[in-house]
Amino acid sequence: MAKMNLKKTHLATLCVHGSGGVDPATGAVSTPIYQSSTFAFKNARQGAEIFAGETEGFVYTRIGNPTQSALEKEIAFLENGEAGLAFGSGMAAISAVVLYYTRCGMNIVSSDTLYGGTHNLFMETLPNYNIEVREVDGTDTANFEKAVDENTSCIYIETPANPTLTLVDIEAASRIARKNSIPLIVDNTFSTPYFQRPLELGADIVVHSATKYIGGHGDTVAGLVVGKQDFINDLRGTILRDIGGIISPLNAWLLVRGLKTLAVRMERHQENAMEIAQYLSFHPKVSQVWYTGLSTHPQHELAKRQMSGHGGVVSFEIKGGRKAGEKLMNNVNLFTLAVSLGDVDSLIEHPASMTHSTYSAEELQKVGISEGLVRLSVGIEHSQDLIADLRQALKRV
Ligand SMILES: *Cc1c(COP(=O)(O)O)cnc(C)c1O
Repeated sequence: MAKMNLKKTHLATLCVHGSGGVDPATGAVSTPIYQSSTFAFKNARQGAEIFAGETEGFVYTRIGNPTQSALEKEIAFLENGEAGLAFGSGMAAISAVVLYYTRCGMNIVSSDTLYGGTHNLFMETLPNYNIEVREVDGTDTANFEKAVDENTSCIYIETPANPTLTLVDIEAASRIARKNSIPLIVDNTFSTPYFQRPLELGADIVVHSATKYIGGHGDTVAGLVVGKQDFINDLRGTILRDIGGIISPLNAWLLVRGLKTLAVRMERHQENAMEIAQYLSFHPKVSQVWYTGLSTHPQHELAKRQMSGHGGVVSFEIKGGRKAGEKLMNNVNLFTLAVSLGDVDSLIEHPASMTHSTYSAEELQKVGISEGLVRLSVGIEHSQDLIADLRQALKRV
């Protein structure tokens, strides 16, 4: 494995083999689950050295654990970053990164179409600590430039954004961040490093809800951060250590396993999503479909430029608004009526009343989430079965 030329190897191979290593302590090929809260020192001096940061070693699982480390190494490798850090949820990862950079009295500039939880953090929780978040339309990056001032701590974007698949030009946003000497943070949950690597486009930090495609099976809640080694060391030693939003060794192991099948899953998610997006765009009861793989997506060209694929989330507007959407959701059989996304199973949900209920009616309208918007997370079942299910359910609307 050590002889593999990583630069010339395809991503699908890298997902399986990772950065190339077996468990350093035992040679185990599958990373063991180190279900231990604490780690013994060889002697008093070694303990003191590890605490002083003079020697590397594990101390206590809130600060580091070998199974977490294996995961952190692999996500950093796939994102083409220096180092990774794992958290107990996507929100723990996101809040840790923004808190790391932002002091009381500062502001954050963000794109306005966000995961509902992130929006709530920005609009409800952070203002309690005298931190203002300026959410602006990120489809025109000039809006970031206008919103940034000398008290701005960072620029935060989510692209593709949940649930309308609105994109932000990562390269353009990174130029504005660099000009102002502030970091650009990108939520890469929807694309995963398989389809988009923001660090290669100039971003400083990538965050993930690993609950979604990285875990891939709907059985784990987790978050990941990738960035420069110094930043990750510091984040581990401050916010992670002090606030304590760690991942369990078992969940870290589930994500290491998830990464091995990321390539095949993402390819299948995309194939199925494309077929469904096309089917829906010709359906008489559907007025609009949002999928970056369709040439009708307003940012299709940008999608082709900064992503190598389009993922598995498809949103659409059903004629007849909320009532019609409810009818559809109550009549599907294969799609499960549930929030979350990125699972092998197909899911269906209503953003306005579920994942994005943290947005006010006015905010929903501003970012284009209507009452009739239905979000599909297309799984890896056979596409014909999924389409047949949508067909019969749409017939009942
Ligand atoms: C789900 C999600 C989050 C939050 O992650 P959790 O793992 O649920 O805490 C953040 N960003 C995006 C884009 C998401 O879809």
